Amino acid sequence: MRKLAYPALLILLTGIFLLSQTTNSPEAKTAVAMPQVAGLPPAAQQAMASVDAEKIRAQVRFLASDLLEGRGTGQRGGDIAAEYIATQFALYGLKPAGDNGSFLQKVAMMGIATQDESTLSLLPDNGAPMNLTFRADYVAMDESGSTHDEISAPLIWMGYGIDAPEFNWNDYQGVDVKGKVLLMLVNEPPSDDPKFFAGPALTYYGRWTYKFEEAARKGALGVLLIHKTDMASYPWSVVRSSWSGERSYLRNDPAPKLKLAAWIQSDVARKLAQTCGMNLEQMIAAAGKRGFRPTPLPVRVHVNLFSKVRSFDSNNVIARLPGSDPKLREQAVFYSAHYDHLGIVPGMAGDNIYNGAQDNATGCGILLEIARAFAGVKQPPKRSIYFASVTAEEQGLRGSEYLGKHPPVPAKDISLALNYDDVPPLGVPEEVNVAGAERTTFYPAVQRTAKDFALTIVPDSQPAAGHYYRSDHFSFASAGIPAFSIDEGDKYRGHDRQWGTAQAEEYVAQHYHQPSDEYYPEMDFRGDAAMARFGIALGWQAANQPALVEWQPGDEFAKARAASQNGNP
Ligand SMILES: [Zn+2]
Repeated sequence: MRKLAYPALLILLTGIFLLSQTTNSPEAKTAVAMPQVAGLPPAAQQAMASVDAEKIRAQVRFLASDLLEGRGTGQRGGDIAAEYIATQFALYGLKPAGDNGSFLQKVAMMGIATQDESTLSLLPDNGAPMNLTFRADYVAMDESGSTHDEISAPLIWMGYGIDAPEFNWNDYQGVDVKGKVLLMLVNEPPSDDPKFFAGPALTYYGRWTYKFEEAARKGALGVLLIHKTDMASYPWSVVRSSWSGERSYLRNDPAPKLKLAAWIQSDVARKLAQTCGMNLEQMIAAAGKRGFRPTPLPVRVHVNLFSKVRSFDSNNVIARLPGSDPKLREQAVFYSAHYDHLGIVPGMAGDNIYNGAQDNATGCGILLEIARAFAGVKQPPKRSIYFASVTAEEQGLRGSEYLGKHPPVPAKDISLALNYDDVPPLGVPEEVNVAGAERTTFYPAVQRTAKDFALTIVPDSQPAAGHYYRSDHFSFASAGIPAFSIDEGDKYRGHDRQWGTAQAEEYVAQHYHQPSDEYYPEMDFRGDAAMARFGIALGWQAANQPALVEWQPGDEFAKARAASQNGNP
């Protein structure tokens, strides 16, 4: 016995050491130390502890399966996803918060699909006509909802196509754009000055959605947006796949619409500039400088757009956990994640299902796991908690736009909205991205909580990509509600940051909005679980603190908040 004691102890210690080192055993894969967050009641800690990375995996695996057909808006797969999520909410014991006592909130939509027989030609005064090829050279939508429109109109070079009084910048000055087609750039004038278009960060003025909306407001017939990968922050393949099938619009939307909302490849724009005796790079450089003036080009645009148009109803899925405080329960904290993706493209060669595993089955898995965790506690937080899985995000944030305009609780009573969109399943994160949180009065709580989670808050790694305007929290913010998304940074445990950055870059280049965004068993959901726990800790604090969360004074969205508080939603 004595003789054996030392080797036995050694073996035992070695065994413990090896167990603690291995990352392949299932126990080790899910074992992440539970953060203790100061000021949170035991029920919140219990909710956080109940979050299970493997349950998130199960949700992602199902939602991203081929059977769900890419969860397209207005397609069967999207409707099945909505029913599935509603069923999960019901099984958790949450209350319905949609229309007529159901979990579903109807979103009336119009689907428009540009048909292959459509043509777009650029006819220079001098030189050969340029007949563009649909999808390879351009994509286009007739947003007006007519099935056929023929346009023959002059083309005007508009630079960035921005009218921003607060930056004393107006590309529309001194030009009548009524009945014209406008050639313009995505993005905004380059700047390092934080007071001029927020420096290197993108403002809403740089987004393509703004370009189309503003041109329509000004009475233009159409817009040709020049796609450049560096300026858009994603390649042409992303534009092509997002615009080749049906795109959906809110059906009863009173906002003016373009008869031609189009993107063209940068090579087409370059050739067009040459034909006009100009140089695209010089035009872009001049467009970013003060004193730029729009220029009519010696070109007519001739378009025949044939569209398939249909009406359909899609649904947001909304559940409620009633708050425990008899007064504060009339107020709310929201969690959201879009369930839609790009669906299935009938007739497309090869794999034609856009499964959207990372975008955004991951966010749905996190939302469902947060909902399950909240529903499982005996003593819920003081304010009510709402869980909203929204539709038609990929169509331009349509579902959340509708929800922001028709919330189940008045917008002024919603303290905070936390969104999840595309949270990579890459392991244990050491950083968190909460871009936009710093614009709210809640930021000190976010900073404290991140510290408790040993997560470093990272600034948006690509501020110029304008992520704040590219997901559903933006729709809440537009309704005045303090809102931001929760995501990981690039640094993961066991890897250097370059590894994470490389993963992110590879995803954008190869899989983002492609059929290859699929579920793989190798995916590691511990980070998604950590983001869920972090979100529970934040939401619980926002739901229990005495005052509602607000925007910092002077913020871009503070005006909308004040309007909602004054009874003008
Ligand atoms: Zn997404």
